Amino acid sequence: MNTILVVAELANEKLAMAGLEQLALARRLAPTGTVIALLLGADKAMAEALIARGADQVVLGTRKAFDGYNSDGWTACAAAIAREHAVTLVLAAHTPRGADLAPRLAFRLNAGCATGCVGVEQKDGTLHFTRASHGGNVRETLRFETECVVATVRAGVYDALPADTTRTGEIVALDTAPASRIRIIERQREDSGAQRLEDARVIVAGGRGLNGPEGFKVLEPLAEALGGAVGASRVPCDLGWCSHAMQIGLTGKTVTPELYIAVGISGASHHLAGCGNAKTIVAINTDADAAIFREAKFGVVGDYAKVVPALTVAIKALPSL
Ligand SMILES: Cc1cc2nc3c(=O)[nH]c(=O)nc-3n(C[C@H](O)[C@H](O)[C@H](O)COP(=O)(O)OP(=O)(O)OC[C@H]3O[C@@H](n4cnc5c(N)ncnc54)[C@H](O)[C@@H]3O)c2cc1C
Repeated sequence: MNTILVVAELANEKLAMAGLEQLALARRLAPTGTVIALLLGADKAMAEALIARGADQVVLGTRKAFDGYNSDGWTACAAAIAREHAVTLVLAAHTPRGADLAPRLAFRLNAGCATGCVGVEQKDGTLHFTRASHGGNVRETLRFETECVVATVRAGVYDALPADTTRTGEIVALDTAPASRIRIIERQREDSGAQRLEDARVIVAGGRGLNGPEGFKVLEPLAEALGGAVGASRVPCDLGWCSHAMQIGLTGKTVTPELYIAVGISGASHHLAGCGNAKTIVAINTDADAAIFREAKFGVVGDYAKVVPALTVAIKALPSL
């Protein structure tokens, strides 16, 4: 594998962990090749941080030229770099941006495209891309005959490399954004104060069993006591009980916390596709036969409205927290 391009992203004005994870994956796939990172709307210190985490070159679009995500501009930049360096693999995080960019870029480059991967491996000289299929019930592995492949990889699948500030690399500044057919009229940031689910070490997630939006008010103190974030299954998001940004699962976010407390969640495969890699799953559910108990290390059979407040009080009373 000669040259890999990683499209890095910012989250809340900081380098997103997913980009660092893609760099580690790129380094693993091309230990002696070149890893280029594309970083748009950021600054030099962030570019240096990408070099410390594995990039050999960073193409840095300044904040002035690249103010936020723009499909047209980002696709044009990534395509130009991929062509110039005969890139064989482009990696992006499986975020709304990455999932928007990947097919556009693949079309532009006449490349194969695999989105939502949970594994990218080199076997017998060919790249294999693994991802969930058939509603999360099976995993499929793809390989392509195209010269280049564009892939998005779910967060938390690979560990970022530790920062090595002795690493050296080149920073190429990009002061002008390519012409774009898209004009951004307004941007609205959602949940700006909340902890990002992808980065949270503890997640308390609620499902249909909460029986309404007020159920999330019961989960919040528990998440706060544990220094964690609140997530959800798809049902409460679709019912408007909480924001879609909180959805975990096949069509939501992939999370890998140390502790995942599933409250009133049955444990459907579509949901587990997003949280099954959590280190410890705890389930609170009235149904002792719920599928979530097969995944959980600890479980409480009971009504969340009684169990969660009692658990919150007990956790707050612990001296070490
Ligand atoms: C293509 C596709 C993609 C999908 N993507 C996703 C996805 O990304 N994420 C996702 O989550 N789902 C997704 N789904 C939906 C998924 O299949 C399930 O329908 C969904 O996960 C069920 O959500 P739930 O567990 O909250 O609800 P339910 O399955 O209805 O479970 C509710 C649970 O709450 C328990 N309960 C009830 N009352 C209480 C109480 N008082 N205290 C404690 N427990 C209680 C019940 O015993 C039950 O186990 C997808 C489906 C499809 C077809």
